[in-house]
Amino acid sequence: MKLHWGNSLVIPVLLLLTSCEPAIRETDSVTVFADTVLIGGNIITMDAGNPRAQALAIKGDKILLVGTDPEVRKKRGKNTKVIKLNGKTVVPGMIDAHCHVLSYGNSLRSLNLVGTKSLDEILNMVKEKSKQCDPGEWILGRGWDQNDWDEKKFPANDKLNEVSPYNPVCLTRICGHAVFVNKKAFSLARVTKNTPDVPGGKIIRDSKTGEPTGVLVDNAIGLVTLVVPGLTFRQKRECIELAIRDCLKAGLTGVHDANTGGDEIRIYKELAKKGNLGLRVYVMISAGSSYWLENRPETGLEGGFLTLRAVKLFSDGALGSRGAALLEPYSDEQGNSGLLLMEEGEICKTACEALKRGFQVCTHAIGDKANRTVLNGYEAALKAMPVKDYRLRIEHAQVLAPEDIPRFSKLGVIPSMQPTHCTSDMYWATDRLGTERVKGAYAWRSLLDTGVRIPGGSDFPVESNKPLWGIYAAVTRRDHKGFPQGGWHPKQRMTFTEALRSFTIDAAYAAFEEDIKGSLEIGKLADMVVLSKDISKVAPKEILKTEIEMTIVGGRIVYRRKE
Ligand SMILES: [Zn+2]
Repeated sequence: MKLHWGNSLVIPVLLLLTSCEPAIRETDSVTVFADTVLIGGNIITMDAGNPRAQALAIKGDKILLVGTDPEVRKKRGKNTKVIKLNGKTVVPGMIDAHCHVLSYGNSLRSLNLVGTKSLDEILNMVKEKSKQCDPGEWILGRGWDQNDWDEKKFPANDKLNEVSPYNPVCLTRICGHAVFVNKKAFSLARVTKNTPDVPGGKIIRDSKTGEPTGVLVDNAIGLVTLVVPGLTFRQKRECIELAIRDCLKAGLTGVHDANTGGDEIRIYKELAKKGNLGLRVYVMISAGSSYWLENRPETGLEGGFLTLRAVKLFSDGALGSRGAALLEPYSDEQGNSGLLLMEEGEICKTACEALKRGFQVCTHAIGDKANRTVLNGYEAALKAMPVKDYRLRIEHAQVLAPEDIPRFSKLGVIPSMQPTHCTSDMYWATDRLGTERVKGAYAWRSLLDTGVRIPGGSDFPVESNKPLWGIYAAVTRRDHKGFPQGGWHPKQRMTFTEALRSFTIDAAYAAFEEDIKGSLEIGKLADMVVLSKDISKVAPKEILKTEIEMTIVGGRIVYRRKE
């Protein structure tokens, strides 16, 4: 049917759209025309009342209508931009509920060691890089994982000293909880065999001589990183802009930045004010920053692009570097139970302070002991400081004692989890934890069955920032080669809908934003992604081959794939 807009009796009206007035009212006599319509598509809305649609209309930064092609065509005025989807699939803009924007941007600028298969491969990369560096210039890298090597031990730095005698080298492990450095770096940091261990950290040493061998774990990392010249404000801004561009390309329209300091907040505010943020950022302010003690929470700044209303705490380290705090020692290292960074009382105290000021609390906890400690701390805080809608979060909730699993739903604590951590760690997680304890690791199904929502994230740069990889990991518990067949502890898999929920509406919920984003519904923000395939129908391995065709944030096309 051809529509004759010129003969139409409808009168376009200008409506002032504000973020507190989501719905656009329409009477019988006036039609509000859309700025943009997307037609002829397969729209997965994540709105339970209207799960699929063909077309969608956008007015300003919000969704005007979701419906059939004929319904949405009625919203096409003479100035309306028409995007023909040609059967392509649209999903709500995906949200990464736990990531690190600045360090991701920085990783895009430094040596990318993710996926390296041996120490030699890394040494070659350092050698090549040192040829381009001035003497004394730091060589930084990120992403090594000794679990991917033939020899699965922490490396010693003898060969690293040979390939880079004049340039200090600091290579961060994939998890961010250990670094591998050379002698030059040690000498600049004045680390010797006489340097005492740091509380909450470890200097890996030669068992005979006591000489540091190159790896520093958790709090000991600071011994060296403190002498690495920090990024300038301008470099930080470049990193953030670089990361944002890459996220929009990956189909993300929002992120929860999980440990943000004052400079980053300033940069976000500057970019948002100029309308240049592009990506919606939910900030978890670093507990160590005084920002949250000096400022009130700020929500929905600059058209809903920036929200500062959460505080980030750390209760332990990571599993790979054996820094995660466990109730019983590691199965592959006698006498080592990891490191608890915060006691229950301290968590309670900080949580009370944050709740009092109107902030949400998000605490990193990997090991079962850390998770229990945080749950206890939260429970005590909620008794001392009752708040109606608190949505306290545990970031990772990675290894849980079976009796602690139902406590999340009982206490109303949100487990914020990263599906790709499971598929990266599954090769060695059983070594660390043993066959019994591992059953409570990455236990999505056990948690979902208690009625909680799981916001999904990637923890980038620890993992790739691609949310589709997270969805693939959630539904398969397999790596990209399809290993292991049937999936690792497959009972814990998510369904496709649960996985997409975790990267859309449930991630929005974790930021108190489920009423304005996370699904494609009238009045919500027009954040969406056009995909090359219907990821709800294809074989899971096809999810990995699905292209992000277009990313739309607040009704604006912010990324479009080049043909
Ligand atoms: Zn993290």
